[in-house]
Amino acid sequence: MIVQGQNATSATTADVPRRNWAGNVRYAARAFHRPTSTDELRRLVAGSTRIRAVGSGHSFNRFGDTDGDLVTLAGLPQAVDVDHERGQVTVSGAMRYGDVARQLHTQGYALANLASLPHISVAGAVATATHGSGQTHGNLATAVAGLELVTADGDLLRVDRDADGDTFAGMVVGLGALGLVTRVTLDVVPAFELRQYVSLDLHREALDEALGSAYSVSVFTDWRTPRLREVWRKQVADQSPPADWLGTTAATEPRHPVLGMPPENCTPQLGEPGPWHERLPHFKLGFTPSSGDELQSEYHVPRTAAAAALAALDDVAHLIAPVLLVCELRTVAADELWLSPNHQRDSFVVHFTWIDDTAAVLPVVAAVEERLAPFAPRPHWGKVFVTDPAELATRYPRYADFTAQLTHLDPTGKFRTDLLDRYFPR
Ligand SMILES: Cc1cc2nc3c(=O)[nH]c(=O)nc-3n(C[C@H](O)[C@H](O)[C@H](O)COP(=O)(O)OP(=O)(O)OC[C@H]3O[C@@H](n4cnc5c(N)ncnc54)[C@H](O)[C@@H]3O)c2cc1C
Repeated sequence: MIVQGQNATSATTADVPRRNWAGNVRYAARAFHRPTSTDELRRLVAGSTRIRAVGSGHSFNRFGDTDGDLVTLAGLPQAVDVDHERGQVTVSGAMRYGDVARQLHTQGYALANLASLPHISVAGAVATATHGSGQTHGNLATAVAGLELVTADGDLLRVDRDADGDTFAGMVVGLGALGLVTRVTLDVVPAFELRQYVSLDLHREALDEALGSAYSVSVFTDWRTPRLREVWRKQVADQSPPADWLGTTAATEPRHPVLGMPPENCTPQLGEPGPWHERLPHFKLGFTPSSGDELQSEYHVPRTAAAAALAALDDVAHLIAPVLLVCELRTVAADELWLSPNHQRDSFVVHFTWIDDTAAVLPVVAAVEERLAPFAPRPHWGKVFVTDPAELATRYPRYADFTAQLTHLDPTGKFRTDLLDRYFPR
């Protein structure tokens, strides 16, 4: 762990988004900032009593909201520095995955996995344990090998996976509450090509086989019938697709996961080979991802409980379907990060893209959580959930350690927000 001192000067106020991407959260900050250097950011943090960073604003809840200073790090110099020897890249935390990916690809490298959209910032995505899919792939935070962050007193702290071990595992999925992340070091792999295939109408009994059938697999459904509507397989390009696959029908035209939305917004399908960063996300950079008019919730349960979890949700399918745009089923490999929803659990992940109507959606979220409760679901930190804080604490073996780490790194509660106080009481 390396700590650097800071010099105090004034901070800049500038234009920062006032709402999140979905529009369901209007930030309550009394001032918005866009510093252009790390030193300026450090002075801003040192001089503030209450401060948070916003990434690309793609979260759906108020963990990142503050009544103090809200700061974007997008004005800091952007850099993608590859360390060829270590097989790692260090990037500015505010950079979007899509921009990082393009630059990495031109240098012959890839990230092992990506989320469904490339629009999100690296630091914001890592802070909430954002994930893609694949039984052997961890969430995006598991690729983090190092972090540089501005801590509550304005110091610059560097933490490293190898040198800081367990402490580091407690800091990566940090909910933005341990400091403002300026730079992130990520593991890279050699660039690779994938082909994306969409198959229609999967029997539920074949779900487990389908989820393990390719590099990354997403299954979409709508809870209107027991059959699963679409399987999106992102398959290593030199492997040939099975001709007659699990009783499904191959799509003959490009699809969008949300019915009625334009397939042009989606990455190429129909088996056309292409680079990893243009196949792993469902949505293209520069186009609207998903519907744009929506809320989202997501729950991680043990992978072995997949069939039972879906059967439990059958009881509330009649509540889900009327407020649902689409449901996505994915897998994520277990990890050791304290607040990762995949902490020591290979996971089956049930995602809901809801209509944009909080009042109609919240009771259904509660019903979903009640049905999933026997499987100790861990909600996505960036999406809508209503889990009781005391209950949530029982689902994370390192919850108390994380709360202690919060107090240690931020004794005056500078990075705390109302929602953080609720879930991690002092
Ligand atoms: C259309 C759509 C599709 C999505 N698909 C997926 C998906 O496939 N998989 C998945 O897991 N999630 C998905 N999400 C959720 C999304 O990835 C997460 O909410 C993610 O956190 C968004 O990143 P962001 O940069 O927008 O972060 P923000 O929403 O801006 O911030 C998230 C949190 O990180 C903190 N933060 C941001 N920047 C910093 C920083 N520099 N330092 C410290 N803290 C910081 C904020 O304070 C906040 O608490 C999707 C969301 C949308 C809107």
